[in-house]
Amino acid sequence: MSVTERDVIVVGAGPAGATAATALAQKGYDVLLLDRHQFPRDKTCGDAVPAGAIELLWRLGMREKIEKAVERGELYPLEGMLLVSPRGHKLHAKFQHGKQGSDSYVAPRIYFDAIIQEHAVASGAEFCQAQAKAPIVENDQVVGMRVQANGRTHDIRARLVIGADGVTSVVARNLRPKNEQHVDGHRAVALRAYIDIEELPKEVEFYLYKDILPGYAWIFPIGKNKANIGLGMRLDHFRKKKYNLEQMLQNFLQRPEIKKRLLNGGHLQDVATWQLNFGSQKHLDHVFDGAILVGDAAGFINPLTGGGIHNALVSAEMAAQVADDALQANDISRSRMQVYEQLCHDHMWQSMRNSYWMQRTFMHFPFIVDFLVRRMKENSSLAQTFLTKL
Ligand SMILES: Cc1cc2nc3c(=O)[nH]c(=O)nc-3n(C[C@H](O)[C@H](O)[C@H](O)COP(=O)(O)OP(=O)(O)OC[C@H]3O[C@@H](n4cnc5c(N)ncnc54)[C@H](O)[C@@H]3O)c2cc1C
Repeated sequence: MSVTERDVIVVGAGPAGATAATALAQKGYDVLLLDRHQFPRDKTCGDAVPAGAIELLWRLGMREKIEKAVERGELYPLEGMLLVSPRGHKLHAKFQHGKQGSDSYVAPRIYFDAIIQEHAVASGAEFCQAQAKAPIVENDQVVGMRVQANGRTHDIRARLVIGADGVTSVVARNLRPKNEQHVDGHRAVALRAYIDIEELPKEVEFYLYKDILPGYAWIFPIGKNKANIGLGMRLDHFRKKKYNLEQMLQNFLQRPEIKKRLLNGGHLQDVATWQLNFGSQKHLDHVFDGAILVGDAAGFINPLTGGGIHNALVSAEMAAQVADDALQANDISRSRMQVYEQLCHDHMWQSMRNSYWMQRTFMHFPFIVDFLVRRMKENSSLAQTFLTKL
């Protein structure tokens, strides 16, 4: 690892970090991309990647890599979705292709993240396996990162730090004031596993059963007979009701309509639990003197769908633009880079608020979900409008 000052340190090489590193390396900056894991590595996720995210990766030059991964069967193309309401009403809706004709996929993160991380390195970023410990702050300005690698602690200086280290971000935890962290009402906990299952159409399946609201259970196909399966729930509700996610998933599997489809006795593989931070919480800083937060480190997950990959990529791309402008002007102050917070607000806030409102409504009035699903069954354009508002 070099001891000289870098232009940018990106902490975390998940979708957000690898995208920011790619965009900045392509602009010619000296980028150090850190992650505590070597790649490929798993990340607990439902693995659903919308067409908009794929298009953004195409823009960064990844189209061929993605098409090859689809040919290898690592990304499984989707045609639509199934929504099942509390009373069992079913809505099938077809996905529209992305604006440039791309598909949505279910892409196990062990493959998906490795493609983006590799692309960052191919674009010129230097990757290093290291555990970030804390930002180095001098005169209220971030000037680098303290990291641990090969059992030793190093201080690495940089003109700018991008915190892309996910939900448990040490960058966010150290830079945001203690009273400005995510609260339980804007967080969730979710469990994911893989399972062998028959009759898998190319649709993501969402089950909004009453005992799981304000969360849902999902079955997302990663092949003809294999799926990512799981369920998630808002954290305050989860703590209050003292739920057990593994037990809830077992109860879901025992439902006759699910049980009859299971292969190999419904044996669950790679069971893992992780947290989600929603983008619906107000008044959180994403920019500091010398540092920017992106993706889950900032907390950009949709509170209704639990989807965060698209926003991770969008925020990373916007952060890279703002960083480029600030680095060129040699001014990485919060006031110069605050435009990033405005961009995030303009691109995400309305959908976060709508989704949060829907999530609360569905929790208190499950019959509204039944009503909506029945209405949308009769009116496919209403279903499309609903999908695009999520
Ligand atoms: C159960 C579950 C299901 C989900 N399903 C979906 C879905 O189907 N579709 C969707 O769009 N979103 C989904 N999400 C959300 C999605 O996983 C995240 O929004 C997405 O991973 C955010 O990407 P990121 O790059 O910001 O963070 P991450 O993917 O979490 O990447 C962060 C990276 O930082 C590294 N890191 C962390 N701490 C350190 C440290 N101290 N030092 C060095 N490196 C560090 C990690 O190893 C990791 O590689 C789900 C989340 C959960 C928990």
